[in-house]
Amino acid sequence: MKTSKLQCECGRKSIYFKENEGRGYCKLCLSKYVEKNFKKTIGKEKLIENNDKIAVALSGGKDSSLLLFLLKKFFRNEIYAIIVDEGIGEYREKSIEKAKELCTKLGVKYEIVSFKEELGFSMKEIFENSEMRKKLVPCTYCGVFRRYLLNKKAREINANKLAVGINIEDEAESILMNIIRGDIERFVKLGAYPSIIEDEKFVPRIKPLRNLSEKEIILYDKIHKIPFEKKRCPFRGNSIRFDVRKILKNLEKRYPGTKYQIVRFYDKIKPFLLEKIKESREKEVKMNYCKFCGEPTSREFCKACELINKIKSGLLNKGNNSIEK
Ligand code: SF4
Ligand code: ZN
Ligand code: ZN
Repeated sequence: MKTSKLQCECGRKSIYFKENEGRGYCKLCLSKYVEKNFKKTIGKEKLIENNDKIAVALSGGKDSSLLLFLLKKFFRNEIYAIIVDEGIGEYREKSIEKAKELCTKLGVKYEIVSFKEELGFSMKEIFENSEMRKKLVPCTYCGVFRRYLLNKKAREINANKLAVGINIEDEAESILMNIIRGDIERFVKLGAYPSIIEDEKFVPRIKPLRNLSEKEIILYDKIHKIPFEKKRCPFRGNSIRFDVRKILKNLEKRYPGTKYQIVRFYDKIKPFLLEKIKESREKEVKMNYCKFCGEPTSREFCKACELINKIKSGLLNKGNNSIEK
């Protein structure tokens, strides 16, 4: 059957036109596509085994809400949601409400982990301080603390997988960002199953939505009435990711399929890079534990402790990065 911007292959009215495929999708075919893509990503990379206990990093946004919904729909595993409250004000309060609503609807147990309680400060408090605001990029700090707390909490509840709602735009951005930074160590840690380190204190992350686009995710959420918060974080915008996102959006508009090509290219070269990295640092792959908090890290002190120390002691202004007990 002929397809167009207005008509799906099945003959129904199209609600979404996938530029790189040159075909329209109706509600039903789009739902099938999203579910098939999700299952294929999990199956191809063996992201989930039968006895896995899965912790889902749930923000209440479009991506993680879909992730929890699909995991519950297709897997019988024990699933638990971890909701991180960074203390961003009204935006986060609303998204937490949506996250709780979804958990209740799906019968999923959840726990809220707050920056304020765990770290002693909220993101809002940091960025209400004008000096801090000038010196720090919110997402860098927020991202490090969130990953730190998610790993800790997932381990505490005995989860052996941590599912995160990363979509294809996020993944393509991360690939480009690490090329721009020349950061090969972080570059090889991307992918649907990014963990290259095995350690009992480290809960491997999985990204089942990594081959789906934002648009596909939002449409599926809407079709299936999945509650999610539509507003975006007020602190976003001042980061390299935001600039890369703009570039990628422009490229995608001019050359449809760019983001898919970037991710496919990454998948092709990753096995070679991993080989090279393993060869060159055979003795180094072992994890250390942070001398301050005991969490896994490849360094003496973990990144979270380094940043917490900077924030708490105000040493950033003095240019002193040491860790103090
Ligand atoms: Fe944190 Fe940045 Fe995400 Fe806001 S946009 S929640 S500051 S990582
Ligand atoms: Zn159709
Ligand atoms: Zn630490």
